[in-house]
Amino acid sequence: MTPSPVNVTVTGAAGQIGYALLFRIASGAMLGDVPVRLRLLEVPQAVAAAEGTAMELADSAFPLLAGVDVFDTPDAAFAGAQVALLVGARPRTSGMERADLLAANAGIFGPQGRAIGEHAADDIRVLVVGNPANTNAAIAAAHAPDVPRERFTAMTRLDHNRALAQLAAKLEVGTGRLARMSIWGNHSSTQVPDPSRVLLDGEPVGFDPAWVSDHFVPTVANRGAAIIQARGASSAASAASSAIDHVRDWVQGTRDGDWVSVALPSAGQYGVPDGLVSSFPAVSVDGEWQVVEGLELSDGVRRALDASVAELTAERDAVRALGISI
Ligand code: NDP
Repeated sequence: MTPSPVNVTVTGAAGQIGYALLFRIASGAMLGDVPVRLRLLEVPQAVAAAEGTAMELADSAFPLLAGVDVFDTPDAAFAGAQVALLVGARPRTSGMERADLLAANAGIFGPQGRAIGEHAADDIRVLVVGNPANTNAAIAAAHAPDVPRERFTAMTRLDHNRALAQLAAKLEVGTGRLARMSIWGNHSSTQVPDPSRVLLDGEPVGFDPAWVSDHFVPTVANRGAAIIQARGASSAASAASSAIDHVRDWVQGTRDGDWVSVALPSAGQYGVPDGLVSSFPAVSVDGEWQVVEGLELSDGVRRALDASVAELTAERDAVRALGISI
């Protein structure tokens, strides 16, 4: 018997990341050999563009694509959603203060969280890509009190994948031979790329600390800016590909012996205050993320994580100052 299609809602569907994401979802790259129904959410002025993308999806004749619908209200878009990819966000424009950016995004992610709580399927899994992704995920989760908060995650998988690419180039091996990279903290310039547990073919591999601090960490943290400079536009296909990796591993499980980086609401692990959405190394078991616990952090990683947590705390406090409880 053919399984029922999985309902996948994508916001910001007419944007650059959305355009790179939807065709991969429809091809089966995210959920495997199961039919999917795409539900695209856009702001009213971008609905026509999203409909154009829906036409192209139809024209691609994906065998697994059961249908595409375009919406301009969250309540309709999230009805029955089992996977939600929250990509659309208000970008920072010049002269915009952080508080203004947080307020604009709270106005997007609060109502979307509420709509998810009221209309999504019981097994909903949410990945926030739109920045500031960690705090946007916390806002959405706070507006869906009946959904387990660990179903709201934010993406640090692109940072993770960028790190793997740098390490693989350094070692002159393929990324598939590496495991156990970790990104800690916020998806921002304070992120903490930590290669100290990385395995090559299952064996520990040490990296020169000077190379890590002077080259590797800044290269990973500034890769987005380097791509904007080279392409004249921000990274879109790699962000989409990493979103696919995140949801695929969440639903289908992480590789044996490996872990990946996921931003999710802290339950106090590694001293990160409860409820802050922070990146941790995590494994997916039976469709649930589990933070890898008990790792000893170096002094440098500890200090850097504390600074990133301070940034997340400041973002949360700025949202609270707007009268929004998160
Ligand atoms: P993109 O598709 O390029 O980016 C969307 C979001 O992803 C932004 O918040 C962006 O953050 C973030 N992002 C970009 N690159 C990365 C990366 N490398 N890693 C992680 N996150 C990343 O933006 P577009 O402007 O092309 O498209 C946005 C679309 O969203 C528009 O079509 C707009 O209409 C729509 N939108 C929809 C809403 C809705 O559905 N209700 C609400 C708001 C917008 P950053 O800005 O920091 O690059």
